[in-house]
Amino acid sequence: MSENPFLAVALALLLVPLVLVAFLPPAAGGPVLPAVPSWPTYTVQFGDTLGGIARATGVPVEYLIASNDLDPSRLRPGQQLLIPTGGVVHTVKAGQTLADIARSYGVSESALRLANNLSGEPAPGSRILVPAPVVVPQATAAALGRGPAFAWPVRGEISSPFGSRIHPIYRVPSFHAGIDLAVPEGTRVCAAAPGRVVTAGWEGGFGLLVVLDHGDGYTTYYGHLSRVLVQVGQFVEIGEVIALSGNTGLSTGPHLHFEVRRDGVAVDPLSLLP
Ligand SMILES: [Zn+2]
Repeated sequence: MSENPFLAVALALLLVPLVLVAFLPPAAGGPVLPAVPSWPTYTVQFGDTLGGIARATGVPVEYLIASNDLDPSRLRPGQQLLIPTGGVVHTVKAGQTLADIARSYGVSESALRLANNLSGEPAPGSRILVPAPVVVPQATAAALGRGPAFAWPVRGEISSPFGSRIHPIYRVPSFHAGIDLAVPEGTRVCAAAPGRVVTAGWEGGFGLLVVLDHGDGYTTYYGHLSRVLVQVGQFVEIGEVIALSGNTGLSTGPHLHFEVRRDGVAVDPLSLLP
């Protein structure tokens, strides 16, 4: 081992806790921004893979994806990746409370406060560290970066597409406002985009239903569920498990009815899914 003092200083600097706290002046009239921790970044090189970066940095792949709102299939050279240390770096969304974030990652609110030196609510757009998350909600191949980012709520065959059809129970021409995804009962249903739970319970023909409001006029519907795992008012992350699929309501077999509405009008989910 060399006795080079510069190397020793460099090593000592590296060991300084990476969460350096910088205070930003409060925006005029806006919320007071909390302490903003900063994290090192890495520039993606030609030939890099997410797995390789994960191994080199010691950061789990799912932490890298969640911290960078990353579409793993679109890793490009030159892209700047934030390298989180000690957990996931979460970007706070408008309307998302600390309690919501705690629920999304299965951690306590006090752990979030402690790790981020927070007393009030974090400002939308700010980044906070989620230390040692129990779950990391993430969208697989979400259409991140182009328009509203929607992810598949479950993976399954489309047993009934969007549009006109003969109603499977009433046997009359009718309009199918969503798509049916054939999945076994009890399949985990994930939020197709971040948003607030506005319905979580029994709703006529939908059976057990969850509705999420994503803002910008977009809502998503998840019908015929067997179990609801969220509550009205809760803000859920994209990819967060919100329910278990089922066969409740007007349903002819186990499936998930998935619907996207824009300004209250049903649109074909396939036009928005990756
Ligand atoms: Zn349906």
